[in-house]
Amino acid sequence: MFIGCNNNIKVNTIVSEESIDYNDKVIALTFDDGPSIYTEKIIEYLYNNDCVGTFFVLGNKVSNYKNTLIKSISYGNEIGNHSYDHKWLIKLKKDKMFEQIEKTQEIIKKETGYTPKILRPTYGSVNNTLKKITDLDIILWNVDTLDWKYKSINKIVIRATKNLKDGNIILMHDVHKRTFLALKKIVPIIKEKGYKCVTISELNEIKKLRKYD
Ligand code: ZN
Repeated sequence: MFIGCNNNIKVNTIVSEESIDYNDKVIALTFDDGPSIYTEKIIEYLYNNDCVGTFFVLGNKVSNYKNTLIKSISYGNEIGNHSYDHKWLIKLKKDKMFEQIEKTQEIIKKETGYTPKILRPTYGSVNNTLKKITDLDIILWNVDTLDWKYKSINKIVIRATKNLKDGNIILMHDVHKRTFLALKKIVPIIKEKGYKCVTISELNEIKKLRKYD
């Protein structure tokens, strides 16, 4: 994927022939708590629909899905850190908090060769200790599909798409079959509304370019 703009500031990203101008309307699809048996289906679907996402993974699941993660990265998706085993980070002592993040960084690097640059804290909770102990960019969301709670695919689709705005970050979980089924309805809707999918790092780059324009 290639992000360009008029004054020659260009960003090279991975895969996809589709070019994204920084004035395009963009959306970041994000998936927490995986990888799982559904992740492969999700990345294949995204790839076939010229879409990318960001996957905030749990360190203790990485080795079992090593090949899925390598494929995911090669498809242009981004991998982020979501702790080692989903401990509530801000409730931990500093050294345990650090360990949850670092162990996950290490295993991702070891299994895929990729080093994440972003962290999604468990339960979206942030405190000063967390901000101090990590250099990773802390990424939350502004559209919550509640896919962990709703069994209805249509409810998830409506929550994901009803009030979409340029630059939104949508929260989903790639550990439910219904999330995959909902995604197959969400992607056509966001495309019809004129949005392009970008990863979190691409979104941050686009926001930076817009600010300095
Ligand atoms: Zn989570």
